[in-house]
Amino acid sequence: MDKIYLDNAATTPLSAEVIDAMVDTMKITFGNPSSTHSFGQDAKIIIENVRRQIADYLHVTPAEIIFTSCGTESNNMIIKSSVEHLGLERIISSPLEHKCVSESILEMKNRKGVEVNYIRPNEKGDIELSKLEELLKSSDKKTLVSLMHANNEIGNLVDLKKMAELCKQYNALFHSDTVQTMSHMPLDFSEITLDFASCSAHKFHGPKGVGFAFIRKSSGLKGIITGGPQERSLRAGTENVSGIAGLGKALELAITHMDEYTSYMQDIKQYTIDQVSAAIPGVKFNGRSAEIENSLYTVVSILLPFKNPLIGLQLDMKGIAISQGSACSSGASKPSMVMMMLLSEEEMENCTPLRVSFSHLTTKAEIDAFVKALIEISHSAMIENSNVEHR
Ligand code: PLP
Repeated sequence: MDKIYLDNAATTPLSAEVIDAMVDTMKITFGNPSSTHSFGQDAKIIIENVRRQIADYLHVTPAEIIFTSCGTESNNMIIKSSVEHLGLERIISSPLEHKCVSESILEMKNRKGVEVNYIRPNEKGDIELSKLEELLKSSDKKTLVSLMHANNEIGNLVDLKKMAELCKQYNALFHSDTVQTMSHMPLDFSEITLDFASCSAHKFHGPKGVGFAFIRKSSGLKGIITGGPQERSLRAGTENVSGIAGLGKALELAITHMDEYTSYMQDIKQYTIDQVSAAIPGVKFNGRSAEIENSLYTVVSILLPFKNPLIGLQLDMKGIAISQGSACSSGASKPSMVMMMLLSEEEMENCTPLRVSFSHLTTKAEIDAFVKALIEISHSAMIENSNVEHR
């Protein structure tokens, strides 16, 4: 049985070209980039070339790109250092953020006494600009706004440009967790005036263990890992040279094929929505998930009209890898915060959320196999649910 992978928001398979670029670097360019001899300088050149490539993609300067180990580290660094080193007294965020953002904020609240204000999303999962403005207006405290670009569970997008302008107007710093959108769409930070953003290579067919933080030069942010002067002293530690080479190759491929991949995945997403809607009467889609133009094209969040907490496992037994929420919370027995925010009590009680996430490698035949498996599981779940009702 061929296995089917529909969990690309959790991570993506590495491209062959990425593996080649990494292996070449590991075999040949093994020098320490801080060494002044040619072995070190060859490794340094690889890092600086990728830094320039990222800077060109984002329309920023290379000095504003700091390599890290992942999206989690980038977000931790930005939030914690904003409080520790820039004296921020208040953070505005939302309950929809990834755990690495929400837990960093909570830590700053508990350890540093930072005031935290959350914007409750509307019933579609949108963070409304008017609510952000109301909060920005309400206090003179030095503020960091941290709102993700695309939600990893439902795919809702925020208008980064408008949010950044609003933050500037009220003198607040603006951080966006862009882990799910970096390399999936054009991002021009000369137009979008945010201060901080984050990236993780394994979300776009690059390796795990490498990412970067975008840190606007004027922000004055410092790092949280101290030691040597690597990464302009913002992130000490010998750089992951082969990982950075892999990130660079993955970004190059993503940019080269961006238009083609976008329309391909939008088509796959619409096909999934159509097939699932036809196969499962009463199915719904969470947030703006089913609005192709208004949501991240890699993700669709399905709400099945029956309760089946074991569905992930059952699909896995049929060879289909899928997630019920974000990867970091899908192992937990509690429903995710995003679902708690969006679903009614009745839906929480009687329905099952499923996140299907695509890559350019996903095929319609795979979606057909997924829908077939879903129909089989649904029939037995519906019978089981109606037995429970009659007991
Ligand atoms: N932010 C978002 C929105 C994510 O989806 C993820 C990964 O799931 C992360 C941050 C964390 O990234 P990493 O796995 O590189 O630590």
